[in-house]
Amino acid sequence: MTDIPYKIYLEETEMPESWYNLRADMKNKPAPLLNPGTGKPMTAEELSGVFCADLVAQELDDTTPFIAIPEEIRNFYKMYRPSPLVRAYCLEEKLQTPAKIYYKFEGNNTSGSHKLNSAIAQAYYAKKQGLKGVTTETGAGQWGTALSMACAYLGLDCRVYMVKISYEQKPFRREVMRTYGATVTPSPSMTTEVGKKILAEHPGTTGSLGCAISEAVEDAVTHEGYRYVLGSVLNQVLLHQSVIGLETKAALDKYNIKPDIIIGCAGGGSNLGGLIAPFMGEKLRGEADYRIIAVEPTSCPSFTRGVFAYDFCDTGMICPLAKMYTIGSSYIPAPNHAGGLRFHGMSPVLSQLYHDGYMEAISVKQTDVFEAAEFFARSEGILPAPESSHAIKAAIDEALKCKETGEEKTIVFGLTGTGYFDMVAYEKFHDGDMTNYIPTDEELAAAIATLPKVAE
Ligand SMILES: *Cc1c(COP(=O)(O)O)cnc(C)c1O
Repeated sequence: MTDIPYKIYLEETEMPESWYNLRADMKNKPAPLLNPGTGKPMTAEELSGVFCADLVAQELDDTTPFIAIPEEIRNFYKMYRPSPLVRAYCLEEKLQTPAKIYYKFEGNNTSGSHKLNSAIAQAYYAKKQGLKGVTTETGAGQWGTALSMACAYLGLDCRVYMVKISYEQKPFRREVMRTYGATVTPSPSMTTEVGKKILAEHPGTTGSLGCAISEAVEDAVTHEGYRYVLGSVLNQVLLHQSVIGLETKAALDKYNIKPDIIIGCAGGGSNLGGLIAPFMGEKLRGEADYRIIAVEPTSCPSFTRGVFAYDFCDTGMICPLAKMYTIGSSYIPAPNHAGGLRFHGMSPVLSQLYHDGYMEAISVKQTDVFEAAEFFARSEGILPAPESSHAIKAAIDEALKCKETGEEKTIVFGLTGTGYFDMVAYEKFHDGDMTNYIPTDEELAAAIATLPKVAE
């Protein structure tokens, strides 16, 4: 019927040798991170207390288009990359759509998501600087798992503060991290001052991401030879994730395929920013045009209902301020929200691009997301992560529109990971116990009212 294979693989020799820094092609650069104390842009020196030197340089570099991927990182990538770009023939058939659907599958490694692409880079630069180890927080567990794998490979100590409720509800995630040698502490804990304080104030609390961040940061700054690392949102993370988009573009180019629509789920924006990077670059340079769609949950709608303003990156309000689409760092997604993508803000790079009209955003309800996830699993075989399934839902909807109009559009979406550790959420969906939560305008306004006041 056609000569496009089910899977388009690249040779190892065709893998990118540099990451692509989208900021170099942006006319309006993302706003700088601000010091919450002084309200001034964070200097390289201030940032180097938190991140290692090479990563600080990457964070602040708005002008270098290509940054070489060190050989050791490229070799690590070769263990699980290039990742396949799959033509979803079976899904197309089931949908009876004339659309051509492709997905870039990032779940082909033990951590089960794209997060390993940045974890290995961040661990590498920490090792290169002679550090002993890194600290981080993890909610659902994907980032902690990816970082544990990367640290094990490089012989770095890895300390993960895992939100207590996840620690208890996802014991298998915890054991995977321990298998890779990480120390996993349920947060809040008695091992940090901030943890003790929180426990004194809220005895029996099951923790939150904001609290885990505070503990991880305290651990890093009070121990020599440690730095804190973060798995999304930051410019450096989008840079590392550009490997997804570069591979996708190279694979499509092999068959002269030009996508019409590119879709990705958006939590902090790292997979989407990585997937679209080279395509957005062409768009910014006026060489090509694409529809680019970010998909977020209705229960945590940063792009679609947030404001573009400076806000804290953490609930604990200790991290630098970032200018981004946000619904307020004090916003806590409803407890019935199972589908991931819980972050209140969004990557400053993507926020600027969205603000400037280069991309679209939509929000989808979690029961619709799980319905799409199940439909996808039954047609393409892969059991998708709930996060990834937001993109699946949007891709299916676009394909169904093509069915109505008869248009043969080419749709590419990011399938960021597998959902094996999310079976409790799937169980809720199957039992009919899953509900949708859509915050009221008043609720969002209340959280947005607590944004820090920043003179711009
Ligand atoms: C963390 C995660 C996401 C969301 O993070 P982004 O930074 O927005 O990419 C999406 N999918 C999976 C599988 C994840 O683990």
